[in-house]
Amino acid sequence: MKYVSTRGDTAQLSFLEILLAGLAPDGGLYMPVAYPQISKSTLDSWRGLSYADLAFEILQLFSDDIPAQDLRELTHKTYTSKVYCNGRQDDAASDITPIHWLGEEGGTSIGLLSLSNGPTLAFKDMAMQLLGNLFEYALAKQNRELNILGATSGDTGSAAEYAMRGKKGIRVFMLSPEGKMSAFQCAQMYSLQDPNIFNIAIKGVFDDAQDMVKAVSNDLEFKSTHKIGTVNSINWARVVAQVVYYFAGYLRATKTSEEKVSFCVPSGNFGNVCAGHIARMMGLPIQKLVVATNENDVLDEFFKTGHYRARKAAETFHTSSPSMDISKASNFERFVFDWLGRDGQLVKDLFAKVETEGGFDYSNHPARQKIQDYGFVSGKSTHENRLETIKQVSRKYGVVVDTHTADGMQVARQNLEPGIKMLVLETALPVKFSETIELALGFKPDRPKAFINIEKLPQRVFAMNPDVQAIKNFIVGNAK
Ligand SMILES: *Cc1c(COP(=O)(O)O)cnc(C)c1O
Repeated sequence: MKYVSTRGDTAQLSFLEILLAGLAPDGGLYMPVAYPQISKSTLDSWRGLSYADLAFEILQLFSDDIPAQDLRELTHKTYTSKVYCNGRQDDAASDITPIHWLGEEGGTSIGLLSLSNGPTLAFKDMAMQLLGNLFEYALAKQNRELNILGATSGDTGSAAEYAMRGKKGIRVFMLSPEGKMSAFQCAQMYSLQDPNIFNIAIKGVFDDAQDMVKAVSNDLEFKSTHKIGTVNSINWARVVAQVVYYFAGYLRATKTSEEKVSFCVPSGNFGNVCAGHIARMMGLPIQKLVVATNENDVLDEFFKTGHYRARKAAETFHTSSPSMDISKASNFERFVFDWLGRDGQLVKDLFAKVETEGGFDYSNHPARQKIQDYGFVSGKSTHENRLETIKQVSRKYGVVVDTHTADGMQVARQNLEPGIKMLVLETALPVKFSETIELALGFKPDRPKAFINIEKLPQRVFAMNPDVQAIKNFIVGNAK
């Protein structure tokens, strides 16, 4: 399988060649030249596979430059019940992404696809844990090292640290805004004692931390001398790892491959639902892909109107589903590439327009029909909707969902079709957002055993002013 940029650069690269890269040199995102097609009989032959074996079958279609035996070892090392055990321990032990069926609504069954059983209790572990093992493997093969530099306000940073801890040839320098994360989030990250993980608390806000990362990444000489890399959501390996659980969810929800299933996806940077789109393009019988947003509704607006209007920082709301608080959706360009017939020059022009004019308007364009053909629909929810949904789901089904999953539940319910099962992607466990849960239900959600008292563990964190030279010095001093 070869990969090309969404912006027209014609170079074709292999999976290992793009694994550690960020954007393509022309500023585009990498996409496979074509989607492997999965027939119904192949799909049926995958019924009963373990998650690790299913991941192998799917990933090998996209990474033929990794020997099969090596890839199988990597997926088996990654998708174990030991790594994915923190959620609902009853069924998580035997399955990595169990479906938790809630009941019947709107003439069909509605269920949660549990994706939050990994070490940081959010779905980002599904891809990031694989990425950790892939990076270690690829770096060892090429006799290279990597210093991952990132900024986080919570979820992504902790998922990256838990994926990269103890990995050979990799160090993580993760900047976070001092005093701006919950005690639980701080404890999750700062209690890691692994010598290759460096938590750096910046005296400032998230944007200060983000600006420092950008400044270092823009210093191309420093970047190459000190082997600086990232693990952000546009990494192709993260997207393709997420394709696997759409197949896993489908296979567990159906008995034959004649049936269609809908998925509802709480969305921010469009990485998760982009993987659903890819699964559908590969032939997975998906009826609808329901994009759920919160008040930051740039995606909902696009799927409803055909008008993509990126928001300014000042128009971005801080909500109670914070991992979906985005102003523009970084993986959306991948969808646009497929949607507009893989015309790289057109995609390049449109995203140049996003920078200069803030968006593009296809509301009166014939291509709008194709959005429906792909099965996309969308909806949004507010803080009040989340509280109400958390209450209702708790009362009706005795299940506590987190705030992001609640966004998904609310929008899923507006898009039910009789006889078409609906799987809502559970993107985090409620314990991560216990303040809002308490607001909705009057009690704190249960904490998985491994997390009781984590706030009391010793913390390893370095304080720093928002000073680019200081972080450079810190990297140089520690990357030996
Ligand atoms: C990252 C995240 C999302 C958004 O996922 P995207 O792939 O960015 O669309 C939703 N919910 C939670 C809990 C997340 O951490």
